[in-house]
Amino acid sequence: MHYVSTRGRAAALGFEDVTLAGLASDGGLYVPEAWPQFSAADIAGLAGLSYVETAVRVMRPFVAGSLTEDELRDLCTTAYGRFSHQAITPLVQLDHRHWLLELFHGPTLAFKDVALQLLGQLFERFLARRDDHLTIVGATSGDTGSAAIDAVAGRDKVDIFMLHPDGRVSDVQRRQMTTVRAPNVHNIAIAGSFDDAQALVKRMFNDADFSARFNLSAVNSINWARLMAQIVYYFYAAVRLGAPDRPVAFSVPTGNFGDVFAGYAAAKMGLPVARLIVATNVNDILHRALSDGDYSQGTVVPTATPSMDIQVSSNFERLLFDAGGRDGAALATQMAGFESSKAMRLTNAQREGAAALFRSARVDADGMALAMRWAHEAAGQVLDPHSAIGLSAARADDLDPAVPVVTLATAHPAKFRDAVERATGIRPGLPARVGSLFEREEAYDRLPATFEAVTAYVADRATPRA
Ligand SMILES: *Cc1c(COP(=O)(O)O)cnc(C)c1O
Repeated sequence: MHYVSTRGRAAALGFEDVTLAGLASDGGLYVPEAWPQFSAADIAGLAGLSYVETAVRVMRPFVAGSLTEDELRDLCTTAYGRFSHQAITPLVQLDHRHWLLELFHGPTLAFKDVALQLLGQLFERFLARRDDHLTIVGATSGDTGSAAIDAVAGRDKVDIFMLHPDGRVSDVQRRQMTTVRAPNVHNIAIAGSFDDAQALVKRMFNDADFSARFNLSAVNSINWARLMAQIVYYFYAAVRLGAPDRPVAFSVPTGNFGDVFAGYAAAKMGLPVARLIVATNVNDILHRALSDGDYSQGTVVPTATPSMDIQVSSNFERLLFDAGGRDGAALATQMAGFESSKAMRLTNAQREGAAALFRSARVDADGMALAMRWAHEAAGQVLDPHSAIGLSAARADDLDPAVPVVTLATAHPAKFRDAVERATGIRPGLPARVGSLFEREEAYDRLPATFEAVTAYVADRATPRA
């Protein structure tokens, strides 16, 4: 399998190179050169398989040429061995048509573990083969950081520098990052928003000399391997609800458009997906883009769902590329326009391509709290705020009532227990697997949101390439 850049100029690469590179050298994102196709019989053949076996079947075409099926199975077995639920991503029924897909049974209590535990394994395998070293630089609105740090802490071929917006992540999220005391882990609190942190990271990657000197790599959802790992649970859930014979809809609380793009990929591969509902909070650039073609950056408003407090959505570029006719040169021009004016209109082809599968909804704090209370009263489920935004959008959607709707439950409620308590009066307890999070000592440095400060910090501490 080869991967091409959404901006058309970077060379096509195999899976191993794409995983280690993260971003393409022309500033674009990698996508498979063609979507692998699953027939109805292939999908029916997934019935009853374990999560790991499903993962092997769904991902094996994407890694062809870089990993054998047995290698892939080994890595998946290790990656998912640390989840606290046998089903890895269990489905929970809320009422006759609404379901939750619980994606938070990994070590750091958010769905990011599903992809990052595997990515940590892939990095280790590929770096050992090459006897090489990587410097991971990432920006996090909370959950990516903790999941990435957990996945690579203590490994000697990787250093990780994680930028989070100072004061804008929950206490549990911050402690999950800053209490990991390993020599290769570096936490930085940036005086600014998540978008400021992400812009700094992007600029470091675009600095060819800096990037080559430290062999920079990304763990943000711009890394294709992460999205690939997330495709698996769409298949796993849909098959349990009757695919290939019955179509299933998904509602996805969305920020960087990574998780929901994995659902789009599943549909392109042949999974009968009736609809993908893109649920945003009041930071609604994606809702405006999908409902009205207006992709223009607003100012970030901090909410109870910090992992969705985003006004530039990196992975949306992948959809614009694929749904808009895969014209890399045209997209490069369109994205350059966006980068200079912070606004763009979707083309007709992009709008029509997206409308075939996507709907969107903007959910405010009241809508979120109502959904949390409904889930508790109707089904005894305590939801985290992000999952509640997804559920609110799912319940408001005008889909055929015969189609089951799966809301992706992206975080454990204890990760956002203050917000859950405010909405429902219930304070969820931390599960035993996070241990003594509140007794451990924290370590992180505060830096201004300037390129000079951050690059100097990284250059001081990272391992340059031999
Ligand atoms: C990251 C995250 C999201 C948003 O996912 P994207 O892939 O960025 O769209 C939603 N909920 C939680 C809890 C998250 O950690």
